[in-house]
Amino acid sequence: MNSIDLHCHSTASDGTMSPRDVIALGKEIGLSAMSLTDHDTIGGIADAAAQAAESGIDFLPGIEISAKFPEPGTLHILGYGIDPSNDELTKLTKELRGGRDDRNERIVKKLQSLGIDIQLQEVLALAQGTVGRPHIAQVLVNKHVVSHVQEAFKKYLGQGGLAYEDKERFTAREAIAMIHAAGGVAICAHPVQLRLQNFARMRQVLKDLVDLGLDGVEVIHSDHRPLDVKFLDSFATQYKLLKTGGSDFHGSMKSKVRLGMARQRPIPRAYFDAILARLRK
Ligand code: AMP
Ligand code: ZN
Ligand code: FE
Ligand code: FE
Repeated sequence: MNSIDLHCHSTASDGTMSPRDVIALGKEIGLSAMSLTDHDTIGGIADAAAQAAESGIDFLPGIEISAKFPEPGTLHILGYGIDPSNDELTKLTKELRGGRDDRNERIVKKLQSLGIDIQLQEVLALAQGTVGRPHIAQVLVNKHVVSHVQEAFKKYLGQGGLAYEDKERFTAREAIAMIHAAGGVAICAHPVQLRLQNFARMRQVLKDLVDLGLDGVEVIHSDHRPLDVKFLDSFATQYKLLKTGGSDFHGSMKSKVRLGMARQRPIPRAYFDAILARLRK
């Protein structure tokens, strides 16, 4: 088997393993190539790249950017092959972090107004990089306000939750442009999370993103059923788009997701090679 994982989170955002440990684990389970795709940050890339070199694993710098999209959907754009020293990228990720800081503060205030004893400081203490709702969820679990992270999202932090707050986001056009400016390719992550009514709608939305410069779609992902994989694979073939895949590993923050697998499905090495070929053009 020659499999890979192109969608992983570390402590640089809301994963629970360090960038080095994520890559080392990938090596241990026999992956031949990986990317680290932390939310709105490239903070883990240097460590991950160093570990990949030590482990003899092929590595692509990555990022996952949250973009504007109508509720109840979520639009995440993955960037692969970005230059982590790109000035524009550094500046824009800083802006994204500012938007998150502001939102985290608003969420904590809302929780406090609901009578929950929680301080922003407790949330920040759990995080080492990008701070997000999963960290707030973890504090709520630790304080026995809820029994697990999923419940924290359902009751408080997710869309429609009692303490839901949105964050400042880039438009899809801006996110794609930012990835291109840093020399990378832009991929629509886990299209099922767009929460569209049917494949016809999904096709339409993805085509609009292609018009904005999207280079590919994530075909294999832990949230994708076999039917979704089949649709996305044929869509990507039809429009000559890159196909990518990953587990969306978060360590114990998403305990059901295993590194290197998406619902028991391995991710083919050919995806990685095609991205590399495109980046070299
Ligand atoms: P944020 O980046 O702060 O908007 O948080 C989004 C992250 O929270 C996602 O990338 C997931 O890792 C996690 N997440 C979103 N919804 C849920 C959920 N219902 N249960 C558990 N984790 C979730
Ligand atoms: Zn996450
Ligand atoms: Fe995502
Ligand atoms: Fe992710």
